Amino acid sequence: MHKNLYAFGKTGACQNKNRYKRVMGSSISNLIPYDILVSITVASIILLLMWLILSVRNEYNKIKEYDKEMFKEPPAEEDCAICFIRLPLLNTGSNYMFCCGKSICSGCFWAPVYDNKGNEVDKICPFCRAPASESGKEDTKRLNKRMKVDDPIAIYTVGCCYQNGLRDFPRDMAKALELWHRAAELGNASAYNNIGTAYYYGHGAELDKKKAQHYYELAAMAGDVCARHNLGNKEDIARNTDRSLKHHMIAVRGGYDQSLEKIRRLYTEGYATKEDYTEALRSYQDYLGEIKSDARDRAAASHEKYRYY
Ligand SMILES: [Zn+2]
Ligand SMILES: [Zn+2]
Repeated sequence: MHKNLYAFGKTGACQNKNRYKRVMGSSISNLIPYDILVSITVASIILLLMWLILSVRNEYNKIKEYDKEMFKEPPAEEDCAICFIRLPLLNTGSNYMFCCGKSICSGCFWAPVYDNKGNEVDKICPFCRAPASESGKEDTKRLNKRMKVDDPIAIYTVGCCYQNGLRDFPRDMAKALELWHRAAELGNASAYNNIGTAYYYGHGAELDKKKAQHYYELAAMAGDVCARHNLGNKEDIARNTDRSLKHHMIAVRGGYDQSLEKIRRLYTEGYATKEDYTEALRSYQDYLGEIKSDARDRAAASHEKYRYY
């Protein structure tokens, strides 16, 4: 009885094994020998692993390349069209002339202008000598003229006018964004920053924080120090203090004193070294050394509206 049962079990197992072979092997292993099938599977796994390693390496290289661009020194603030001294970061330190599209420092703007006979003349552009605009309409006319020659500052400025409904331009955020995109393509860093803010708050564009970040980064790379400072703060919040320090260092070289304060704080909290803070102080002093001039000092002493640092 026991023997029979054993025999029956053995026979059943053999039958099952044969059935298994038939089911599993009927389509593939009848055509491909088992050892070759194993080799193909192993080779496929190796290829998949190699593809994964290459993908990760490519992604890593892409991030490395992007960071290289991100932390590259951005273009410096341009020089005054008259005295050729670096323009200060502070808005009150320079004027954009709607007549000729030149940026002129507060010192040159404030200084008296003389005619050919040496007589002081009033209300003319110190660069192109065009008479000062007497009305908002004239300003608009001049801005439109500058836009026609693809002046990025004029295009950016008109974009801001559309954003806020200024200078006879109707409030139109879609038009503002269109102009900022155009100005940004021509190298205007502030335009990138404004596009970023539009996406960040969903003003005139669909709220999209990822796109906002992208445009803030483009703004920083194009030389917008305010955008650079904000990126530094974001990295600080994410506790990426190394990256935060790098951003703030660049902003300080651009003359952004709030980033200098931030580096001082990173130093006191132990996230930056004494050398980092010393370098930041030196960079800020270098910036001040580059923008200072007697004419600008005289203008600043005459009125607060000419303050330049
Ligand atoms: Zn000047
Ligand atoms: Zn002018």
